[in-house]
Amino acid sequence: MFHDFKTWLCLSNDPGIIIAQYDAMRRQMPMLFALLIINAAAVTYIHYLWAPQWLTVGITACLISIVAVRLLAWTVFAEATAKITPERARKLLQRSIVSATAFSLAFLTWAMLLDQYGGQLEHAHIAVFTAITVIGCTFCLMHLPQAALLVNVTIMVPLLIYYLCRGNPIFIAIGFNIALVSAVMTRVLLNTYAAFTTQILSQASLALQQVATERLGEDNARLALIDMLTGLPNRRYFFSRLDEMLQECAVTGERFAVGIFDLDRFKPVNDMYGHVMGDRLLADVGRRLAGQVGEGILIARLGGDEFGALISTYGDRAFATGQHICALLSEPFDIDDNRLSLGCSGGIAIYPDAGTDANELIDRADYALYNVKSAHRGGCALFSADHETRIRSERAMEAALQTADLDAELHVEFQPIMCLSTLTILGVEALGRWTSPLIGEVPPDRFIAVAERVGMMHPITIKLFRKALRSFVAMPRNIGLSFNLSAQDIVSSELIALLMAAIEEEGVDPSRVTFELTETALMCDFDAAVSGIRRLRSIGIAIALDDFGTGYSSLSSLNRLPLDEVKIDRSFVDGLGEKAGRNIVGAILGLCRTLEIDCIIEGIETELQHSQANELGFDLAQGYLFATPMTMPSLLLWLEERGWQEGFSFPRPRHMLTNRGRSIARIRPV
Ligand code: C2E
Ligand code: CA
Ligand code: CA
Repeated sequence: MFHDFKTWLCLSNDPGIIIAQYDAMRRQMPMLFALLIINAAAVTYIHYLWAPQWLTVGITACLISIVAVRLLAWTVFAEATAKITPERARKLLQRSIVSATAFSLAFLTWAMLLDQYGGQLEHAHIAVFTAITVIGCTFCLMHLPQAALLVNVTIMVPLLIYYLCRGNPIFIAIGFNIALVSAVMTRVLLNTYAAFTTQILSQASLALQQVATERLGEDNARLALIDMLTGLPNRRYFFSRLDEMLQECAVTGERFAVGIFDLDRFKPVNDMYGHVMGDRLLADVGRRLAGQVGEGILIARLGGDEFGALISTYGDRAFATGQHICALLSEPFDIDDNRLSLGCSGGIAIYPDAGTDANELIDRADYALYNVKSAHRGGCALFSADHETRIRSERAMEAALQTADLDAELHVEFQPIMCLSTLTILGVEALGRWTSPLIGEVPPDRFIAVAERVGMMHPITIKLFRKALRSFVAMPRNIGLSFNLSAQDIVSSELIALLMAAIEEEGVDPSRVTFELTETALMCDFDAAVSGIRRLRSIGIAIALDDFGTGYSSLSSLNRLPLDEVKIDRSFVDGLGEKAGRNIVGAILGLCRTLEIDCIIEGIETELQHSQANELGFDLAQGYLFATPMTMPSLLLWLEERGWQEGFSFPRPRHMLTNRGRSIARIRPV
């Protein structure tokens, strides 16, 4: 217990409490000393005539001088609370405890010596002086209870003994009264002090909690701006920084570039190796890009495999930065034992040439990117005046298509598919045509892209297909009809149902119909496309893989898809004059034969190409050399000129019959 008391006397270990005590004492100690000086002076004045001078003048002067020095120390020379260290404050407080006890003893002794002189009133004055001073000091020492307690004990115990020894019952009663008041006061003071320390501690813990909450808030704010997978800034940060740059540059007149980058072949890698591998690949891409971030360039992940860059240069320098980013991501990535080769395409728009707000700049950069992507060439493109003209014409096209009378404006032309060995017609490919009264004739690849963008693909497909079927009934019965479907068509089960219903309603044998699909269309949603293909094949419709060789995964598609026909893209025809080109086309033909798939070569324009295709062993071909796309009346005339009349059928080559028979009978599971 004594040990606890000693520990208590040595003051709290909490630096916050020590500083708070010091702060309170700085405000209260001067009052305590002033009280002592005034009270001591009053007592001296009353006893001046009674007591000897050495006591009234000498000792009093000494005591008052020492107290005055302490008063100065706590006022003029006191250290500011904000600057003092807890160790220094503790030292000063400990010193105050010792000096308060010493002063108590000194003043009590002085008062008792004075009490030896004078009459009853003077004795009473001493008793009142002692009581009032003890009460006053106790209050002033409220925040240093150690000192207050020692002062009370140091004064009350000797005072009581003194009054008891003197034997005067009135002063004994006064002594007990004062002792009682001082004991109660001490108790109250200890309670108040306990409340004081609790308050200080809870304030400190509140402050700590506040700091922790602020830190958590800052962390959350930081995390909200970072993409967790790649560690790069995220879309939100990118757009807020873009807004800031727009505001700054609107004032300074500086130019800068916005880049949008998209990984090539990421989707096939993700599909083939799984999402975990896809995520690791993206993390590696993020690490590579993070190495490029620095003064004047910010790269963020905008979502999926799309990244954005803010580049503080423009023109050729911004273009060079874009090319560098694309080249960097075209280097292979090694993950575990796999070497993965992606590519990267990018589009760059310059502020303020391409646009003055965030949406415009992003749209323009995206447009430049889209152009790079659709040309399958990788690398980066700057948004140009030519792009701007095309955007305008596409907008006009969108408006014209949305208000078009589809029945009146759309029609179908047919291009014969030929058997090379007999030079007879085996089928026709239906090609959509749109003649707008507002903007004139629009090539199909352009209006199909616009229709996909504005969500009009399905009504256009079904309208063209119905028109094609109605014209097609005039054709000889052993001739097939090929019709092109877009990416949005093959993944829609509703549209597939409509196509099947149209075939039935127009009374066409489904085994005469082939739907042509490009690889790009199939890759958009591979699973949905495969289930669409299965449904069509289940009623005998054939499926052709169009523009073969221009997609990303041509060879793997042959194996993975239930196909009946492959159409080699016309870009390969140009290569037939060279050995390497011939080898490639020959290899594709060989592969198709092995897989028992018909193979058509497209875009034969010259006799030379015809004979080269013949030499390689092609049986089926299409091209301007044989016939350009024609309306049905022109096609019927064309056929008539070649000896076809109503009721006459061209002999169908044997391999085509065999294959088609196989295609219908053999519905390959996938
Ligand atoms: P595609 O399916 O590859 O169609 C063949 C395209 O090549 C046709 O162009 C045709 O006119 C052209 N062509 C045929 N022989 C030759 C040749 O010897 N030399 C050259 N240079 N070209 C030749 P077209 O009619 O302009 O169609 C372009 C593309 O638009 C088509 O390419 C097809 O992907 C798409 N398309 C056409 N009609 C439709 C349609 O009704 N629906 C859908 N979804 N797409 C269509
Ligand atoms: Ca086609
Ligand atoms: Ca084609």
